[in-house]
Amino acid sequence: MKRIDTLLGDITTVRADAIVNAANCTLLGGGGVDGAIHRAAGPQLLAECRTLNGCETGLAKITGGYRLPARYVIHTPGPIWRGGGHGERALLASCYRSCMALAAEYGCRSVAFPSISTGVYHFPLELAAPIAAAAVSACLSEEGNSVQHVTFVCFSQEVKDAYDAALADVRRL
Ligand code: ADP
Repeated sequence: MKRIDTLLGDITTVRADAIVNAANCTLLGGGGVDGAIHRAAGPQLLAECRTLNGCETGLAKITGGYRLPARYVIHTPGPIWRGGGHGERALLASCYRSCMALAAEYGCRSVAFPSISTGVYHFPLELAAPIAAAAVSACLSEEGNSVQHVTFVCFSQEVKDAYDAALADVRRL
């Protein structure tokens, strides 16, 4: 049975086949969850990222997990919130879909996401959570997708509450 759940915690400790990094377009590290993932994975992660030539907003690239308990890291640059009139919603949904597609391509059964774009990129949490929940739920229901289990790893109770509410809404549909 496929499932989506939420977890309050630090994504760098999660033992999933793939964890997602809310990266920037350089893929060369940053603050927030990106910095935490690079610190926990060790310098080999940055070395592999240097070979990737960056990534466009809304797309994703995959690397090894190195010292992380996860086998892979899927790096996706989320959109920077600029008021909502610059395609931010569609780009955020595209991040989740791109990550799910890469995870399936690599045969992953479990994937953990952080709350993409809602930190220093300032995407409003109450808008981001329903987009994330709907996009992941749609991908999970696709036939032939290897992914069985998705976890939204929430760094605060406020974030977890938003994703729990969004998932409850998706399940009611
Ligand atoms: P973005 O640039 O996409 O906004 P941030 O890293 O600034 O990315 O924030 C995205 C979310 O990740 C925020 O909710 C932030 O609190 C959270 N976050 C930061 N560190 C971690 C971590 N170690 N594990 C999970 N989530 C984290």
